[in-house]
Amino acid sequence: MHFDARNIDNNTVIEGDICIIGAGAAGISMALEWINSGHKVILLEGGGFEYEDKMQALYKGKITGQRYYPLESARLHYFGGTTGHWAGFCSPLDPIDFKKRDWVPYSGWPIRREDMDPFYERAQSILDLGPYKYDVKYYQQQDKSLISLPLDQDAVYNKMWQFSPPTRFGTKYKDTIINAPNIYLYTYANVTNVTANESVSTIKEATIKNFAGKQHTVRAKYFVFACCAIQNARLLLSSNQQAPKGLGNDNDLVGRYFMEHLEIKSAEMWLTKPDLLKLYMIDYGKTKYRAELGISEQKQQEFKILNGTASLTPLDIARQEPAIIDIWTDDQKERTKNLDELDKKGEKYKSAKGYKSFQLFTRIEQAPNPNSRVTLDTETDELGMRRTMLHWEFTPLEKRSIRKIYEIIGQQVGIAAKGRIKLMDYLQDEHDTSWPSFTGGGWHHMGTTRMSIDARQGVVDANCKVHGINNLYMAGSSCYVTAGAPNPTLTIVALTLRLSDHLKQKTGMKA
Ligand SMILES: Cc1cc2nc3c(=O)[nH]c(=O)nc-3n(C[C@H](O)[C@H](O)[C@H](O)COP(=O)(O)OP(=O)(O)OC[C@H]3O[C@@H](n4cnc5c(N)ncnc54)[C@H](O)[C@@H]3O)c2cc1C
Repeated sequence: MHFDARNIDNNTVIEGDICIIGAGAAGISMALEWINSGHKVILLEGGGFEYEDKMQALYKGKITGQRYYPLESARLHYFGGTTGHWAGFCSPLDPIDFKKRDWVPYSGWPIRREDMDPFYERAQSILDLGPYKYDVKYYQQQDKSLISLPLDQDAVYNKMWQFSPPTRFGTKYKDTIINAPNIYLYTYANVTNVTANESVSTIKEATIKNFAGKQHTVRAKYFVFACCAIQNARLLLSSNQQAPKGLGNDNDLVGRYFMEHLEIKSAEMWLTKPDLLKLYMIDYGKTKYRAELGISEQKQQEFKILNGTASLTPLDIARQEPAIIDIWTDDQKERTKNLDELDKKGEKYKSAKGYKSFQLFTRIEQAPNPNSRVTLDTETDELGMRRTMLHWEFTPLEKRSIRKIYEIIGQQVGIAAKGRIKLMDYLQDEHDTSWPSFTGGGWHHMGTTRMSIDARQGVVDANCKVHGINNLYMAGSSCYVTAGAPNPTLTIVALTLRLSDHLKQKTGMKA
């Protein structure tokens, strides 16, 4: 069922069993799981069904530290959320990403990769991916032309990716959600505050507001925030009537450990003779899977580096590409143009017979850093909610890791007599910790309500429940402890399915 919260009587009280706040990848995945469950599920979406500048403006905020995209353009604020323009790159986190690594401060999830496997498998179909197979051999058996670079797989392996079409949740799942008799979707229902009981052990209600000047109250047994990492933190911090520091923030952790994937051109690979390297190529909009070069767990451990991958693009094409951080503005037209250009770029690969030189492009996790954080500004948005301030900050480990990754790849390419690797200028001096202006992020927001079994180390427990509050849950990448190298949405959906199963058990439903 669908209701436009602008058109219902002011001060309506809406009641249900579960209240999901935010209808993006996480919120919609969760709602789908509860269709015909016998429970009344309220799905609150701040925006409508289309992009609107006024809605995006609610996301505006200040940025300090590392250069970043305008916050109002880094996320979409309407039904379907940021899947309205995601690119569809998917791969699961590696087993090492969940482990405590003594060289990565604050690493170590309370769950393991094998705990996530059944949920990754289920998430594949929601994102219109193929089977849950991420071993290169599986693809090479089907297509003999997918030849690996002859590198020692114990050092540099083929990290496989699958590509979602990309699934636009707002388009694909709209009718299913609206037609579900027990899912009550409210659009133009911006949650601006959540109220707890006096002892802050239970959430009682959420307040929703919109530009029509209407305000409503939502009561439920369970509340799930699915607004993405920055907005999840913002809403917790803003809801400070009963807890002055914000909900779940007794230990000053909400908003901290904000993480992004650092995405940056890093090196060139020059082959001794031309090669198409089809296994590693991407044709935007058409590629279903491809490999990037990953660094083995042993090598990460040996050199005490972060997890990162290198993707390959023919050098003559890569050289024509401006850095996304330079062209991604808050202007919607600009963004659409940029995505169109990416689409066209894919066409060029079709006629290619082989290339001698490739750009190596890094996607790497950043080390969890308490100073990299989301806080609230004193300035408010049009609905009276305090705006976001983002301070994005790296540690020296990120740059050292990138440099080492290319040393390892360079060594392997040399041993195989396949060619050589040339580091970009900014990586030449190992003592230089500065970053070039073209350093970018992947639009992946993670880590602001990190997971830990210890309330002094994390905001949520292993079930994504906020410590100390018995009916408040966080869905999605805000719960990440570390980021791994892969883009986050597959893990966001998998983690949400896991949370959904947990809630089903709590409500006595069969998972
Ligand atoms: C250009 C671009 C390319 C990307 N490419 C990839 C990729 O290739 N692979 C990948 O894995 N990821 C990619 N991403 C990231 C991906 O889009 C996100 O990981 C994913 O959308 C996050 O899902 P989510 O549900 O947590 O948040 P969102 O999709 O952002 O959804 C959050 C929802 O909550 C709603 N909301 C927010 N605040 C409130 C509130 N207070 N009250 C009510 N509703 C609220 C929003 O309107 C929105 O609908 C990309 C992102 C961008 C911008």
